[in-house]
Amino acid sequence: MYTIDEVLDFLFDTKYNAHVVTVNPEIIQSAKKNKELFDIINDAELITPDGVGIRLALKMKGINQEAVTGYDLTLRILELASKRGLNIAIVGAKPENLELAVKNINLKYEGVNVVYAHDGYFTAFDDIIASIEKSGAKFLFCAMGSPKQEFFISRLKQKLKDKQTGLVMIGVGGTIDVLSGQVKLAPKFFRKIGLEWLYRTLMQPERFKRIFPTLPLFFFQSIIDSVRR
Ligand code: UDP
Repeated sequence: MYTIDEVLDFLFDTKYNAHVVTVNPEIIQSAKKNKELFDIINDAELITPDGVGIRLALKMKGINQEAVTGYDLTLRILELASKRGLNIAIVGAKPENLELAVKNINLKYEGVNVVYAHDGYFTAFDDIIASIEKSGAKFLFCAMGSPKQEFFISRLKQKLKDKQTGLVMIGVGGTIDVLSGQVKLAPKFFRKIGLEWLYRTLMQPERFKRIFPTLPLFFFQSIIDSVRR
């Protein structure tokens, strides 16, 4: 068990490259069906619960772990990187949202150097991976949604396996859209009780198919697992 502060200490101090996966029930259910994704997550240096779903499943197993979401991690990293003048890279989101997000980061987090930014709609994987390698970034925020971001990070991690510089690679989903100001974050009330996914589904009903039947199935299987223990 760890706190977000301990996670941050680890990420800022690591001399080895590190992949962070913030998992939600949707990713777990996909990984059960996709061996490659399963292996990528298992191979990550750090896995954190992205919200209330995984927290509850862990609680059923007697583990009391606070949520460490991709969004919260991103903001805390930007705050600390701003004080230390660190380099960051971003890959993901639509070009116009990425541009706005970079502008907002430059305004709000003085001292952070966005040394590389590319939208999340590309086919030239190798060029982008080479640019990140050259950029000297300490953190890479990969905002392409799951499982795209996990596959991209895995490819990058593989490429850099003989070049350990302490690069931290995190899949952060829709975080760049929120930082762009174009997508509204769920109100504090929903976030506090861990129901931001419900808010997002109510606001964008097309997301419903992403949580149904995945979410009920995840809980059903978690309950069976905890009873079997
Ligand atoms: N996205 C991307 N490349 C793609 C598909 C999606 O960069 O090929 C971006 C999309 O523009 C959005 C983010 O990935 O900014 C996904 O956000 P979503 O809220 O769906 O992610 P979640 O956090 O729910 O996984």
